[in-house]
Amino acid sequence: MADSGSSSLPRQARVVIVGGGIVGCSVAYHLTRLGWRDVLVLERNTLTSGTTWHAAGLVGQLRSTYNLTQLAKYSADLFRTLAEETGQETGFRQTGSIALATTEGRMEELKRGASMARTCGLEVEVIGVEDAARRWPLLDTHGVIGAVHLPKDGRCNPVDTTLALAKGARQGGARIAERVLVTGIRRKGGKAVGVTTPGGEIDAEFVVNCAGLWGWHLGREAGVNVPLHGAEHFYVVTEAIPGLSPALPVLRVPDICTYYKEDAGKLLVGFFEPNAKPWRKGPTPEPDGFLHLPEDWDHVMPYLELAMARVPVLRDTGIQLFFNGPESFTPDDRYILGPAPELKNCFVAAGFNSVGIQSSGGAGKAIAEWIVRGHAPMDLWDVDIRRFMPFQGNARYLHERTTETLGLLYDMHWPFRQYASARGARRSPLHQRVAGRNACFGETAGWERPNWYAPAGVEPVYEYSYGRQNWFPYSAAEHRAVREGVGLFDQSSFAKFLLQGRDAQRVLNEVCANDVAVAPGRIVYTQWLNERGGIEADLTVTRIDEERFLIVTAAATQTRDFYWLRDHVPSGAHAVLTDVTSGYAVLAIMGPRSRGLLQQVTDADLSTAAFPFGASREIEIGFARVRASRITYVGELGWELYIPAEFALGVYDVIAAAGGGFGLVHAGYHAMNSLRMEKGYRHWGHDITDENTPLEAGLGFAVAYAKRADFIGRAALERQRAQGVRRRLVQFRLSDPHPLVYHNEPIWRDGRLVGSVTSGAYGHTLGASLCMGYVQCDESSPAQSVLAGDYEIEVACVRCAAQPSLRPFYDPAGTRIRDEPRGALRPESIAGA
Ligand SMILES: Cc1cc2nc3c(=O)[nH]c(=O)nc-3n(C[C@H](O)[C@H](O)[C@H](O)COP(=O)(O)OP(=O)(O)OC[C@H]3O[C@@H](n4cnc5c(N)ncnc54)[C@H](O)[C@@H]3O)c2cc1C
Repeated sequence: MADSGSSSLPRQARVVIVGGGIVGCSVAYHLTRLGWRDVLVLERNTLTSGTTWHAAGLVGQLRSTYNLTQLAKYSADLFRTLAEETGQETGFRQTGSIALATTEGRMEELKRGASMARTCGLEVEVIGVEDAARRWPLLDTHGVIGAVHLPKDGRCNPVDTTLALAKGARQGGARIAERVLVTGIRRKGGKAVGVTTPGGEIDAEFVVNCAGLWGWHLGREAGVNVPLHGAEHFYVVTEAIPGLSPALPVLRVPDICTYYKEDAGKLLVGFFEPNAKPWRKGPTPEPDGFLHLPEDWDHVMPYLELAMARVPVLRDTGIQLFFNGPESFTPDDRYILGPAPELKNCFVAAGFNSVGIQSSGGAGKAIAEWIVRGHAPMDLWDVDIRRFMPFQGNARYLHERTTETLGLLYDMHWPFRQYASARGARRSPLHQRVAGRNACFGETAGWERPNWYAPAGVEPVYEYSYGRQNWFPYSAAEHRAVREGVGLFDQSSFAKFLLQGRDAQRVLNEVCANDVAVAPGRIVYTQWLNERGGIEADLTVTRIDEERFLIVTAAATQTRDFYWLRDHVPSGAHAVLTDVTSGYAVLAIMGPRSRGLLQQVTDADLSTAAFPFGASREIEIGFARVRASRITYVGELGWELYIPAEFALGVYDVIAAAGGGFGLVHAGYHAMNSLRMEKGYRHWGHDITDENTPLEAGLGFAVAYAKRADFIGRAALERQRAQGVRRRLVQFRLSDPHPLVYHNEPIWRDGRLVGSVTSGAYGHTLGASLCMGYVQCDESSPAQSVLAGDYEIEVACVRCAAQPSLRPFYDPAGTRIRDEPRGALRPESIAGA
């Protein structure tokens, strides 16, 4: 039995977990498995009374990425043995699951998913219509094209599973107290130091916010951003259906937004409709328990009718229960895990987007390991709380986005798919200008960014598919303009920080793997590493003068990178960090004609002798002084211009006016992706993450072993350099130009699975599909062992021959970037070779 009320509460615990749902209990269970006994779970009602009690109990394992699938797979493995271990039944049954496709696009999506499932070690088979009907006899197969069967998927009883986790946690020493409301997280000196309850304060070394739907409010009170919002989620349970087998697999028919599960002789039919109903305006602080929201037949009926057409027995079966319960959804449909950047020692595990039961085992294990070891057990960037921007906690934004996110669970996950709701949150100062050029915008971290430009007379909207989408030829033209002439990119979404002070160089040299002790006006490409040598960030540092450094990083990592550096400025150091992202627009002018164009609008000498690659200085354009940095992510001669925001329009207008004579083309992020793939430039979050080292990633050239500073990760890198690497990032070029590669596709060598794709794009100059990914290699001769053998990339269950390379396929010597006479070439310092 759990403790009840505050009377017997301890005054302190090593870890206090707020919330006794399946996630909080899983965190407690896994902490005790790691030997931490002094763990206290506080639940304001009774265990499972939040969202967990009414979950349908589907335990699928295949998620959108390799690591998230590993976590879901772990949950299923845990649930299989938990009852035996704890003595508490969980109701877990491995009935398998079937997902049906009724469109070609969906079939391709299922096949691509099946390919990825194999890399994760999941059993999976693509099955035909007859096979699907044999396994699910109540099915009307009209219009079904095919299906995928995952035999090890299952289902459980969410309440019993939570109680089993709680029992296991108590057996390991944890205490669980029910009917204890946590009224706040206490903070001191930027750290969480405990919680407050009506019965008094409790000290803690760590606080974990597992408050589910209520996690937004609990976080906000403590200055922690937990962007989630409630949505009503509906299912119905029928009367008993004679002869229904308890071994019936879970059936998902995403094309009609529906799942079906056998439930004690009845069918439970649930929906992920595209027009979701956010639950209440703004997240709620009230202590509700066992919520059962009102029925809404009008809302559900269109989907129920589709569900009945697919499983006709439903037409003749009564509905015993109409269930409507709230669940929390995040702006990107991915859950929230990890240490709150704003408050040390405060962790969050919340916002589970209707997959909290199947994710609970893995998420609880990951959080427990994160707390105990001090770092994430694997790359969890997809769900890392540090991916969010402060504005994403805005209640109106969350409310609007939630209308869309619930349905996205089952909607098509097209490549490049953009959100339709809550758009326009962050706009570049140049937004109206580029919109006037017919930009089609995509959203990253709330920024509206031009992904491609439609020609005059063409509407800038996506037409999605897994093949060449409508923008493919337009983006190809933008690509060619950058390779052959000059292109303009609006990259204002870059995150920009200033580190200033007498100790700025010293601090940066302890954080950066490369050496920033360069002359003012030089740009340094560098990684920030963790103690294990893994890449926490990938960015440039520009020395402005003796005491000022400009740090430029990706829009998506603004929060993460800012806090990483802030947390590594030693107390007492004279180094002040400021986020100046909003202060500057960024225009990148790239291509062999970029110098000619820019020289028209500035008196500064842009020749290579006066302004070499890697240099950065202020120049005058129009009435403005702008920082021009000679650097590139596309592999051509070019400059990034950092323009004070209020001058951005003026500078843009001057460049655009002069651009006519140079054939200036506006180019978007899709063209940039194609250009960077040809050069083999890595993308943090895909090709490089906190679990890959620069040596594995082929970025050893950016590590300054010779510098004196004992930078973070040095020891690990030196060890690895001595021993050799066991995996290496390799670039691939597919022989057949037709299949398109995106991410997570399996990599085969001589018929053996050796890795999976981290990112892919079509290279328009090379006329080939390109991708990269880590493959296992021999420590003693990584280059030879990795290049030997016949490679294939599996795309939608079909293996396609591919040529491997450790050097960029395009301009491997970097001649075009440096634009120097032959013989004067230095090794390229910003390349993936
Ligand atoms: C209709 C429906 C069907 C679903 N079906 C599935 C499914 O088939 N498979 C699946 O994987 N997922 C499913 N889900 C999702 C799943 O139920 C949730 O993701 C999961 O239960 C979330 O667990 P949790 O522990 O994060 O949250 P909760 O279960 O809500 O737990 C949070 C707890 O925190 C407590 N709390 C909050 N604030 C405080 C405070 N200040 N002090 C103390 N205690 C506090 C609450 O009382 C609550 O008990 C479904 C959801 C719904 C609504």
